Amino acid sequence: MLTKMMSVLCVGLVLCGCASQNVAEGDVAQNRPVVEKPATITAEQWGSDPLPIPDDRKHVPRFITLHHAGVDWKAGSDPYKKVRDMQAWGKKTVEDGGKDWPDLAYHFLISPDGQIFEGRPIGYEPETNTNYDVHGHIGVQMWGNFETQRISPHQVESAARLVAWLSQEYGVEDALIGGHRDVAEGTSCPGADFYRYLEDGQFLGWVNQVREGEVPGIDLGPALEDGPTEMIPLPE
Ligand SMILES: [Zn+2]
Repeated sequence: MLTKMMSVLCVGLVLCGCASQNVAEGDVAQNRPVVEKPATITAEQWGSDPLPIPDDRKHVPRFITLHHAGVDWKAGSDPYKKVRDMQAWGKKTVEDGGKDWPDLAYHFLISPDGQIFEGRPIGYEPETNTNYDVHGHIGVQMWGNFETQRISPHQVESAARLVAWLSQEYGVEDALIGGHRDVAEGTSCPGADFYRYLEDGQFLGWVNQVREGEVPGIDLGPALEDGPTEMIPLPE
């Protein structure tokens, strides 16, 4: 019995030894620094007032899914008021014109000036108005409507920094980082003027620059021929 236990232990030790050696070699080969969490405004800091989320909504994050608000960002809007209003609207009952959601639909929300607001706790699945299985999805929403407004470089940089950090923390594969329209039918979300950078691989390139410890060289280029031309206004 003791011998058997010893041999199991030995196999375990050998396997563990191999694994950690591989990780160490991988780190050296890739020479990747640890990605720091980007600065965020915590739920407490913006004055979140959520309802409890049922335990059966708990999940393990596996995907990162990017959204736009789909509503034009208006000049002079206050991001702190915006996030509180969104939460209050979602919490209202359906009869009252709300959604019956206990908390914000998304885990992170990015203002046109690049401020990142923390929303729903990441250990709970998000909400959706479309038809896809939200289990395992980390939802990141960028404010504005990128069918009618051009996304700001601040939003793209914050999204790239956030995605680089989230993918590191939750082990999300690059193939599972995408836009809402990649996982649900019948939506143009996250809007043509942002989706273009997901589609052509530029966004992942900026994420990779963050992973390498570089400042992402974000150049959004000219407007799409059939896309929006007006830049989203920045909060004051
Ligand atoms: Zn969406």
